[in-house]
Amino acid sequence: MDCPDFEALTTPALLAWTLERFGHRVAISTALGPSGVVLLHLATQLDPKARAFFIDTGFHFPETLAHLDALEARLGIRLERVTPDAAEVAARDASATPLHRSSPDDCCALRKVEPMDRVLRGLDAWMTGIRRDQGGARVSAPAAEWRNVGGRDLLKVNPLVAWDRKAIWAHIFEHDLPYNALHDRGYPSVGCWPCTQPSDASGEERAGRFVGQARTECGLHTRF
Ligand code: SF4
Repeated sequence: MDCPDFEALTTPALLAWTLERFGHRVAISTALGPSGVVLLHLATQLDPKARAFFIDTGFHFPETLAHLDALEARLGIRLERVTPDAAEVAARDASATPLHRSSPDDCCALRKVEPMDRVLRGLDAWMTGIRRDQGGARVSAPAAEWRNVGGRDLLKVNPLVAWDRKAIWAHIFEHDLPYNALHDRGYPSVGCWPCTQPSDASGEERAGRFVGQARTECGLHTRF
C-alpha cells in the first residue's frame, strides 16, 4: 500500500487520508476523554458517517454514560457499543474477590482487550486520540503505525499525537463540545470507576488512573 509520510501530515490531512483510504473499514476507538471528543468532532466534520466505537466495560461512571449520550446528540452520531463476553464476565465475577482487585491485567484483558480485538478483526485500520504529551509509553507514539492483530496488519492512526492538552481543551471550548462532568470534579482522566480516582497532586493528565497498581496503561495501546 502506498502511504504518505504520516508524520508530515497535518491532523486534518491525516484524518482525510485515513477516512478516504479505508472508508467503512476504519473506526475511531474512544473512551470519550477530551481527545476522543476532539477526534470525533474533526472526523465527523469530514465524514458524518465516520465509524466510532466505545468499549462499555460495565464499570463506567454514570457521568461517562451521560457524556456519551450528550456527545452523540451534539454530533448527530451513534457510537457502536462493544461489550465484554457476558458468560466469561459472569464466570469471573463469581469469585469472592473482584477480578479488578485480584488481577487487574486479566480484568482489562476480559473487559477491554478482547472486545477491542473482536472489533479490530472486522477492520483494516483504527484511529485513537492518544497524544505524546500524556506521558508514559505515549511519549514516543507515532502518527501512524502498522500493528499485527490476529495475524493481519492493521494501521493504527493517532491524528492528535502532536496536540497538547491546552489545544485539546481550547478546541472543546471553542466549539462548545460536551465533556465528562467528572473533569470539573477533580478527575483529570476518567476510566473504569474501580481504577480511577480524582487527583490534583501532580497536575498530570493521567494522574488518578490505576493508582496503586504497577502499571499506567490498560493494555489497549501497549500490548503489541
Ligand atoms: S480499568 Fe480496572 S475495572 Fe476497567 S477493565 Fe481494567 S482492571 Fe477492570
